Amino acid sequence: MQANPPPRYDLGNCTVTLVSGGQFKLDGGAMFGLIPKALWSRSYPADDQNRILLACNCLLVERPGTDRRVLIETGHGSKYTPKEQNIFALDPTCWLRPNLLALGVDPASITDVVVSHLHFDHAGGLTHNADGQLKLTFPNARVYVHKPELDDACANFGIMTATYRAENYSPLCAADAWRVIEGATEIAPGIHTLPTPGHTRGHHSIAVQGSDRVLAFGGDLMPTRHHLGAAYNMAYDLYPLDNRASKQQMLTWLAERDGLYAFDHELETPVVSVRRKGEWFELTAESSDR
Ligand SMILES: [Zn+2]
Repeated sequence: MQANPPPRYDLGNCTVTLVSGGQFKLDGGAMFGLIPKALWSRSYPADDQNRILLACNCLLVERPGTDRRVLIETGHGSKYTPKEQNIFALDPTCWLRPNLLALGVDPASITDVVVSHLHFDHAGGLTHNADGQLKLTFPNARVYVHKPELDDACANFGIMTATYRAENYSPLCAADAWRVIEGATEIAPGIHTLPTPGHTRGHHSIAVQGSDRVLAFGGDLMPTRHHLGAAYNMAYDLYPLDNRASKQQMLTWLAERDGLYAFDHELETPVVSVRRKGEWFELTAESSDR
């Protein structure tokens, strides 16, 4: 559900607004990999089909004095059959585009979009059906993707057969909307991508630097606050040990900078601060500025 007014974080001459890209449910066991249900279900209750409720958090980044309006991530979108809606407990009318419009943000005003990877619950909002046609949701935006991720999506590389969907990325190829990047890249003033392989080969995170603080959006690097532990991988991760190393690097980088971390699938505390605690880290919920 979209909160109104939405949570907003001031990083210093740069604001980050959390916009909902929808909610859905996935199998709790798959979300926690090798962690026994006896452990994860204490903090994350499952429904009668063993599914847990997940957010699709998207971030709108605005910097006074620039004409860039940058969107990080696009959520699950709206293109689902009734059977899929049932499987994922997904409401196809509640997704990023109507939620932006409800906040007074015209999707045509978005200048740049960046996605962590191209699984359906991250890239689904890039396109939608309207007037019997598949359309770009952000018709004027440059859309950034990491080259190995686009290559793997086009080849449908991975262990899940249905998570890369051509309807989410092919129209952008046809419209020449992609800006394919390689390695760490500054995509807009103060907004950098950081390769964080593990969940997929081409997965990257996005860091937003304000004059006071830095915030990182890690995509499926660490989907909820319950995935903080080193062993807490998802069964969906293609390279679990690589993901663990990427997570440790990200947490170290943020702890050294008193930085903030924004989760993609966290419902209750979408933004946290990261600090060292012993040999690992602790997270503290960060309240929004409104
Ligand atoms: Zn994913």
